[in-house]
Amino acid sequence: MRIVVLGAGVIGVASAYWLRRAGHEVRVIERREGAGLETSWGNGALIHVSSVQPWAAPGVPLKVLKWLGKEDAPMLLRPSAVPKMWRWGLGFLRAARPAQYRAGSLANLKLAIESAAAMAEIRAATHVQYDYAGNSVMKVFPDQPSLDVAIAEHLSLAPDGLQTEVLSRDECIAREPTLAPVAEKIAGGLGFPQDEVGDCNKFSQGLAAWLEGQGVRFHYNTTVEDVVLKGGRVAAVRVSGNAGDSEVPADAVVVALASQSVPLLRRLGISMPIYPVKGLSVTLPRSVWPDGPRMAVIDDSRKFVLTPLGDRYRIVGSAEVGDTSTTPSPTRISSVTRGVAELFPHLTNCESLPGAIAWAGLRPMVPDAQPRIGATRIPGLWTNTGHGHTGWTMAAGSGRRLAQMMSRNDFAGAA
Ligand SMILES: Cc1cc2nc3c(=O)[nH]c(=O)nc-3n(C[C@H](O)[C@H](O)[C@H](O)COP(=O)(O)OP(=O)(O)OC[C@H]3O[C@@H](n4cnc5c(N)ncnc54)[C@H](O)[C@@H]3O)c2cc1C
Repeated sequence: MRIVVLGAGVIGVASAYWLRRAGHEVRVIERREGAGLETSWGNGALIHVSSVQPWAAPGVPLKVLKWLGKEDAPMLLRPSAVPKMWRWGLGFLRAARPAQYRAGSLANLKLAIESAAAMAEIRAATHVQYDYAGNSVMKVFPDQPSLDVAIAEHLSLAPDGLQTEVLSRDECIAREPTLAPVAEKIAGGLGFPQDEVGDCNKFSQGLAAWLEGQGVRFHYNTTVEDVVLKGGRVAAVRVSGNAGDSEVPADAVVVALASQSVPLLRRLGISMPIYPVKGLSVTLPRSVWPDGPRMAVIDDSRKFVLTPLGDRYRIVGSAEVGDTSTTPSPTRISSVTRGVAELFPHLTNCESLPGAIAWAGLRPMVPDAQPRIGATRIPGLWTNTGHGHTGWTMAAGSGRRLAQMMSRNDFAGAA
């Protein structure tokens, strides 16, 4: 079967991997000059099985309203965005009810655990190098009440497979000695043996290169304009750019365009509730602090993640609704790096250190945080999109689920 995957972010590339492994003829269309150059470029680099709970949690909608329009809030909702996203907002409110939140958390945990196993298979089969580090993620808390809430939340997921280690302050410092000078700012922490670190962009590029060796054709610098239907089912993809042909024939198409899935699907009469939620990162050469952290440290109260990534550090944070540009705003960047400096004074104003790269990306968020993996009502048209804040964590498993579904359906789609 000829399958055309739209988008060479981590989701598109992982889909291509499993579809090729299932024996299909696969092409990937990507508007950029390579794989993993948009949202998959500068993310937090965490394969975080421990943090796949939906953002729509009980109590969060109220907090978001409290932060409305506040430039330095951890989650900033710009008032100008509200009229355009009322339907998405209603979905978010619905998803934040306790039963829905719990169901969403369990469904995502299942996919994340599957995904970690799928990732291990990809590593073993391809030897792709992406600054991988296992069991290297820790969350710290400033006080006992916030630690207790997190312990209860994480332990409630233990029967469904989440492994959590409760760490005293001393145990946190034993794992990450650079925290010793700020010991009084930490009450304790959680360790996550299933979590991993790795560079999503390097993985996407490395896997794409490996797949080219397996006969998958990547058409870079090529923009998807439309999906062509014949007799009501998928027949081709209309492209502009380097692919040569203006139509790429297809028996099936996988839409993996993150936030850009929305306009394409809308043209086909399919509504996809993805809203782009902007996030930021700063990548630093390790030389700015050669003896710095070895563990990824997450601090939810100070709203940052600091990830050692090969010979670099990556600092990530911020969620902003209503700005769909990928230009990092200095105010938002400093609201993240201020938090980092409280725990790691070596990194004060780190965005100005030599070699620092500030970046912004758009998380493709669906209100209930359940990625849309599967058939559409158009025969031959499939989606693997809407992975929000957990696309790197879910990529390998989502690609495998999709390939299994497509193979079972013999590409007919859900007519
Ligand atoms: C600040 C930040 C931190 C994050 N941290 C983490 C983390 O630690 N762990 C985690 O699991 N997730 C994290 N995420 C989420 C994760 O990065 C995303 O969910 C994931 O990258 C989405 O992958 P994707 O392939 O769907 O999207 P993308 O990587 O954006 O890929 C979509 C591709 O489609 C292409 N495209 C779009 N339109 C067209 C068109 N018309 N024609 C051709 N090509 C087109 C784009 O160029 C792009 O390459 C983070 C996100 C952000 C922003």
